[in-house]
Amino acid sequence: MPEEKRKTASGGCLCGEIKFEVTGKLNPVTYCHCKQCRIWHGDVIGYSGCDRGDLNFLSNDTLQWFHSSANGRRGFCTSCGSSLFWADETEDYIAITAGCFDEPTGLTATSHIFVGSAGDYYEIHDKLPRHNESSS
Ligand SMILES: [Zn+2]
Ligand SMILES: [Zn+2]
Repeated sequence: MPEEKRKTASGGCLCGEIKFEVTGKLNPVTYCHCKQCRIWHGDVIGYSGCDRGDLNFLSNDTLQWFHSSANGRRGFCTSCGSSLFWADETEDYIAITAGCFDEPTGLTATSHIFVGSAGDYYEIHDKLPRHNESSS
């Protein structure tokens, strides 16, 4: 019998125009230190994520995508400016900022990526694994 997909999380943007639910498995949270993320989000950002098919929008009229690299797209709300998603067009995975999930999120942060391009204004004080680039 196939495993029934149940809602595992929900979230949305600051103004509430974008609302979504996730059914299925969410990735643990990874902190990304890359320069693009730090500019886009304002600082280091925690990302969870899931298979694209597991992300269901309840409303997304104000969702727009910015092409930040050849295959990279960053999704944001045109009404409030919340930056919520990152996706590689060639992959069936979508990264979702950890901060936009309704709590309790059930998520746990497990690693840092792109610490090779971390900012010069902070130090990482936790003991989580660190990767100079992506973890894969
Ligand atoms: Zn919004
Ligand atoms: Zn990044």
